[in-house]
Amino acid sequence: MNKLAAYAVSSSNSRGRLIAEAPSAGRSEFQRDRDRIIHSAAFRRLEYKTQVFVNHEGDLFRTRLTHSLEVAQIGRSIARNLGLNEDLVEAVTLAHDLGHTPFGHAGQDALNDCMREYGGFEHNLQSLRVVDVLEERYAAFDGLNLCFETREGILKHVAKKKALTLGAVGERFLQRTKPSLEAQLANFADEIAYNNHDVDDGLRSGLISLDQLNEVTIFSRHLQQVKDRYPVLVERRTVYETVRSMINTLVTDLIAQSTRNIADADITSLADVHAAPPLIGFSRQIKKEQQELKKFLYENLYRHYRVVRMSAKARHTIERLFAAFSAEIRLLPAKYQTKFEHEGHQAIADYIAGMTDRYAIKEYQRLFAITEN
Ligand code: MG
Repeated sequence: MNKLAAYAVSSSNSRGRLIAEAPSAGRSEFQRDRDRIIHSAAFRRLEYKTQVFVNHEGDLFRTRLTHSLEVAQIGRSIARNLGLNEDLVEAVTLAHDLGHTPFGHAGQDALNDCMREYGGFEHNLQSLRVVDVLEERYAAFDGLNLCFETREGILKHVAKKKALTLGAVGERFLQRTKPSLEAQLANFADEIAYNNHDVDDGLRSGLISLDQLNEVTIFSRHLQQVKDRYPVLVERRTVYETVRSMINTLVTDLIAQSTRNIADADITSLADVHAAPPLIGFSRQIKKEQQELKKFLYENLYRHYRVVRMSAKARHTIERLFAAFSAEIRLLPAKYQTKFEHEGHQAIADYIAGMTDRYAIKEYQRLFAITEN
């Protein structure tokens, strides 16, 4: 464990667990949270859930599992350099996508629309629901009984109306205070990871080209540096070297700028962090360049007709599953029928959100093809 700064989250300033537990021998509280997350069923499902490319489109594209591992690795390096709690960052980053539906954002948007009359669906809140309620592993409690700070980091944003129902972890959205620096940096690690791996996966898929990306400031600068240094390198390695040095630039910039922000705001305690404006951030130039890259990816990758087609199929699949279960509750597995009696449509949302891409495809066939059941 690195030496913690005075404003880091530590076991001594932690608000602890909802249900008190005896300390674990040889592990910090946040290492214990990380371990519980890794052993959860929702974590294993991340292997077959995707963001941009659906699981069957290729074995080398990122899944939510490999994405979460990349986010954790980037997050830990940043935490170590800023004197923040690396174990907490690891726990938050590994858990940050646990509540995602199958089929990435298309699945999330479709389920949110289906749930509109019943309170909507937010993947962020669902991640918290997974660790607070849905995991069924322990004798003494539902969920994983994680520390407050891990739960705070998982809940990146939530509507005010929902925040009112969440107790202590919802308070900051009502009081407009900021979460720990560990939680703040987890968001940036997520952004650094997905922008860069979407560039890599986008090129690998052939949906975007190197020539197109060369129009993007941050990419073309790093590509040029790689070409100057290795003029005869094959394209695939050139791409890897470019992505690798972009990640390095972003991580280094984030550490330097955040260090300045923390010093300028005279932050000396965790209480100072909660009261201050957001302190983790990129320099102005890098922020601008990141926005340009995001815009490029949005227009050229996420809006590419082949991605849009897959998103349309994903939406159709989620909508039909939801409609079928809503119309006839007895189509649900027995466990979810019982849950429906107590929780209504939230039980259907929990069932669908828990599906992997391939499970959802299979369930669709079981429901709508006469040959399956
Ligand atoms: Mg993510």
